[in-house]
Amino acid sequence: MTRAYNFSAGPAMLPSAVIQRAQAELADWRGSGASVMEISHRGGAFLEVAERAEACLRELLQIPEHYKVLFLQGGASLQFAAVPLNLLRGKGRADYLLTGLWGKKAYAEGGRYCEANVVCDAAPDYSGIPAPQGWNLDGRAAFVHYTPNETIGGVEFHYVPDTGEIPLVADMSSTILSRPLEVERFGLIYAGAQKNIGPAGLALVIVREDLLGAAAEGTPAVMNYRLQADNGSMYNTPPTYSWYLAGLVFEWVKEQGGVRAMAAVNKRKADKLYAFIDASDYYANPVRPDCRSWMNVPFTAGDGARDKAFLSGAERAGLLALKGHRSVGGMRASIYNAMPEEGVDALIAYMRDFEQRNG
Ligand code: PMP
Repeated sequence: MTRAYNFSAGPAMLPSAVIQRAQAELADWRGSGASVMEISHRGGAFLEVAERAEACLRELLQIPEHYKVLFLQGGASLQFAAVPLNLLRGKGRADYLLTGLWGKKAYAEGGRYCEANVVCDAAPDYSGIPAPQGWNLDGRAAFVHYTPNETIGGVEFHYVPDTGEIPLVADMSSTILSRPLEVERFGLIYAGAQKNIGPAGLALVIVREDLLGAAAEGTPAVMNYRLQADNGSMYNTPPTYSWYLAGLVFEWVKEQGGVRAMAAVNKRKADKLYAFIDASDYYANPVRPDCRSWMNVPFTAGDGARDKAFLSGAERAGLLALKGHRSVGGMRASIYNAMPEEGVDALIAYMRDFEQRNG
């Protein structure tokens, strides 16, 4: 099997071992004569897959008993609406930190359901995180929402904001499982699966149980966390194959030594890429060093024509999907858990070579 180094921001590269196992099990799952995607979600065999996946995730992230884990559909974007619908609990106000495009989208959607307050806004260039001393937290907010890792800008919090008694809600789509996590600091964590978990479409929600049960009137049933929790995320047919694949990814993370081991490799990968960029007069990353992402590294090679040549050469060298987001241009290397360290080494070698040939 030939596998390129795929730097896509999402859907992103999955561990090769997981792809191989899924391939081996695809047509005849554990001698059952059927694929795991062809069996009932209510049958014992699938329930075991579902439970094992949840148990493995709970172990990896040390999720306490009083948190529910939900496997839902609709990607992370549906959670932009589900969070206020479920967590406002009659309060009518919520706080949003804006450190990039995804936080802004969550804020715009939240504003359809409540008075959404801007705690801080890193506009116009979104290349850093405003200092907490200047934040405008509203003491009456039902929750505080932020995006620990902004996938497009490559801006990441390397600390958990302190919001006192007000539940903290985190969109961890592009950082979950990249490092250890203190779940108890959060009221709710959600993540679209297509970076560090599995196929797009699946969304993971980890929510403190006491926050459930007060969804706004009119909340669609499939978006009601209490209802989904009471039904084991099977109020309707769940995305069974994605759930199965997520379980394989969780097992893979465990085999690598868990999230602590992942963090060590991720930090090493990011550090060497930033160090190379900083040492060069040719390449540049616009993000303030204290908020640079371990997962998404945007960079440029000087001008648009060079960036274009860089990208076409990279494809030919087996380094895929390095094109920056359409809103910012340039390049972006997404180096999630599944990107081996050798992939980052290969990227750096290509960057060095490209500079020598085009400098
Ligand atoms: N939040 C973040 C941080 C993301 O990176 C993305 C997708 N790239 C989303 C939300 C939206 O996810 P989805 O497309 O699954 O709705």
